[in-house]
Amino acid sequence: MTKLSAENRNILLKSIRNIPNFPEKEIIFKDITTLLNNPKAFDILMNHLESRYNSYNLDYVVGIDARGFIFGSVLADRLNVGFVPIRKNGKLPAETISEKYELEYGFDEVQIHTDAFCDKENPIVLLVDDLIATGGTAAAAELLINKAGANCIECCFVMELDSLKGRDKIKGEIYSVLNFS
Ligand code: AMP
Repeated sequence: MTKLSAENRNILLKSIRNIPNFPEKEIIFKDITTLLNNPKAFDILMNHLESRYNSYNLDYVVGIDARGFIFGSVLADRLNVGFVPIRKNGKLPAETISEKYELEYGFDEVQIHTDAFCDKENPIVLLVDDLIATGGTAAAAELLINKAGANCIECCFVMELDSLKGRDKIKGEIYSVLNFS
């Protein structure tokens, strides 16, 4: 794996915009639209992820609705493996498996197609999302991957909010490119 240089880390950090009080008061939203429309930053990120995962012999990359689709599908294409979406409830058209997870108030649900991994036996899968906060979404996605018959080898995030301790909810390995306290 090519280590992310301090210079490249800085370019990535500068490319992400903080939006205070979105979508609710007290939340500092990490806006990656400014990373996506900065070709240098986007390329640095994807080169780094490609160099980390090209020796993992992945069968699929799974991305979480919606920003995980962007990074996950570009990575899948670079690694020449299939991309599988995990979507919010009611969006996938064929037969699905669901997993509920707790939010601050109430529940949410994510789904995967039952036959998402049926091309391969015991497939090795990487889960990708833009950010891990409390970890509820990624933990549900990790469970879904395993329920659908695949082996989730690692969960990869562009950003991790360390203080929320989301990583404690994840069963397997975790890799975050950028950590925020
Ligand atoms: P959680 O389930 O709490 O780990 O939340 C993770 C999901 O919510 C990810 O898909 C993120 O895109 C989104 N998210 C949570 N907090 C933030 C934040 N501060 N900035 C941007 N996205 C966030």
